[in-house]
Amino acid sequence: MFKKSREWHNIRPDEREIVARHMKNVPVKLGAMAKELGISVKLSSLPINVSGQISKTSGGYEIKINRHESRQRQRFTLAHEISHYLLHRTVIDDLGGTLKDNVLYRSGAEESIEYEANRLAAHIVMPEDVLEKAYLEYGEQLSEAAIEHLAEQFGVSKAAMEIRVAA
Ligand SMILES: [Zn+2]
Repeated sequence: MFKKSREWHNIRPDEREIVARHMKNVPVKLGAMAKELGISVKLSSLPINVSGQISKTSGGYEIKINRHESRQRQRFTLAHEISHYLLHRTVIDDLGGTLKDNVLYRSGAEESIEYEANRLAAHIVMPEDVLEKAYLEYGEQLSEAAIEHLAEQFGVSKAAMEIRVAA
């Protein structure tokens, strides 16, 4: 019933294997996923209107996450930046090596790029098969409390879970 994102098949096969392996259990361990992909992740004091950014460094890529945002929000931002890494490395290059996302996940890159990163991020933090299993336990009609519980289980905001189960 739940689907993979359409971006899934655009990920390089060796990297897709790494990502898939980390999506077997929730909450998905995004830090470990990033590390295995060779990305360094730092919690940083970014400006208040910036949620996260990804930069090319001499040795690879580095993601910075705004330490002042909520934990769930930080998780989604990390999944969003990992998605930029997986899908948009040439875009990051074209932007001079840094893609910076404001609080609306707008970066100055084309809007379609941001939709792709958001869809893949939602897929990564709410893997379809784990979600399917959890969903079946609640039956077809998802109550408010059930959605809250699912959100907690997956480490996402209630709003993010609502969008995923309604899709
Ligand atoms: Zn973005």
